[in-house]
Amino acid sequence: MNRHIYDRVYLIGVDGAGNFFKNAETPNIDRIFADGAYNHNVLTAYPTISAQCWGSMLHGVSPQAHRFTNGLVGTFPVPENHPYASVFKLARKAFPSAVLASISNWNPINTGIIEQGFDIVFGTGEDDEVCQKVCEVIAENDPKLLFVQLDSVDGAGHRYGYGTKDYLDAITHADALIGKIYDTAKKCGRLDNTLFLVTADHGGSPDGHHGGNTQAELIVSFFASGASVRRGEFGYMEIRDTASVIAFALGIEQPENWSARIPDGLFSDGVSFERPSEVSPDGSRRFTGRENKPTPDGKVLSKYIDTDTMRCYFPFDGDTTDKSGKCKTQTVGKLYFTEGFYSSAATLDDSFIKCEKINMGKNSFTFCCWLKLHETKKDEKWLIFSNNADGCGRGVSFYVLGEMLVTDICLGEQTIHYENSLPANYAGNLFHFICSYCRNDDELCYYYDFTLETDWYSEILIPKELELDGGSVRIGNCSPVTVDDLMLFDHKLSDTEIDNLERYYTEK
Ligand SMILES: [Zn+2]
Repeated sequence: MNRHIYDRVYLIGVDGAGNFFKNAETPNIDRIFADGAYNHNVLTAYPTISAQCWGSMLHGVSPQAHRFTNGLVGTFPVPENHPYASVFKLARKAFPSAVLASISNWNPINTGIIEQGFDIVFGTGEDDEVCQKVCEVIAENDPKLLFVQLDSVDGAGHRYGYGTKDYLDAITHADALIGKIYDTAKKCGRLDNTLFLVTADHGGSPDGHHGGNTQAELIVSFFASGASVRRGEFGYMEIRDTASVIAFALGIEQPENWSARIPDGLFSDGVSFERPSEVSPDGSRRFTGRENKPTPDGKVLSKYIDTDTMRCYFPFDGDTTDKSGKCKTQTVGKLYFTEGFYSSAATLDDSFIKCEKINMGKNSFTFCCWLKLHETKKDEKWLIFSNNADGCGRGVSFYVLGEMLVTDICLGEQTIHYENSLPANYAGNLFHFICSYCRNDDELCYYYDFTLETDWYSEILIPKELELDGGSVRIGNCSPVTVDDLMLFDHKLSDTEIDNLERYYTEK
């Protein structure tokens, strides 16, 4: 059978729209795709966060392969040699002189998800400006591959709740912009042999969140219109398959390391193939879903350190139980389990874990954990030890301020503030953090990956007064963070103990 190849592919992504299109008034989508294909049950990437989902859509792999996070893409440009080529890089290789354009309200897509250096036309602005720029690019440059991202629907979801009246009105406004883009393309004669696609990166919950694994967050709609598109509902699809659809439509072979496929029933000439399994960047290792390496056989923490001196211990291996058995925990909001050092780790966004009544007296203390920082809403605290169950007032808290990792020891009106640069390459990586405080010497130390980073001697001596009995620990508090193996000790860990802890993680 002759394979149909398109002259152009337009992909419009509506951030945060999930599959709520079907609940909103969308006269333009209705007319554009009246003879097209749709699927309101497309599974997006997990976690259901923008960078992860757009990354999967454009790079044809899951987040555990592409590694994009909101924090990363907002900070670092994507090098030309990102191990999993995006559809843009692929199109550039196949069509050296074609116009390729990405007009995106959320600019990190242009800088942090699409590889730099391939002569892509980039543009950004508020949704109405995006629409205006897209219409200009279509009229003047006739792009072969055009990606558009609209953001205001997600904004409305966060503000009013996903699925609410105000949110659905925002989808209707996005629909009007999509209609304008479509009509401009039609007027300029750009719709002949064009594959026109509309989808979303993720949905969201009624209380205004996304990142988790509810249906409302995970399921999105996908619409397609084009000469070889079958009419009606098509088969199983994941958001990364968008990349396959684009490559197929442009007549390009998809890269071997994509784990994307053409959904069944979308194209009349669609070739059916199994989803390729995901491979690590060098091709050496096949990822195995979200199962992570378990603690090696025979590795028992108590063989390395005195676990009796722990005041709490959270391995976060699928639950939030305190394995020291000393405190009860309560989770507020949603957390999810992602790849940890040993087995899984807890990833928190607008959620937190509360552990009540930890008795520390006026002892020295040590906090240890593996940490991965995501998009950091600056100066929001993500780890708080307080002698007040509300997680404020007197106590110790950790957070990121700019590029600094900060510890505040707060005694009501007075706060002692310690800060040190984050470790190099912290972004997107787990690193081990220890903060220890010795009452006798008024010495506070930071260790990164078990190496002493810095120590301070307080001149104010206030911490001597800090009574931590009956306190609570709050892990996560608005700022997205992944935490694994969190331990709290009632003394300052000695150098030997820290060496032993390192051996627990590194020794074969
Ligand atoms: Zn998003």
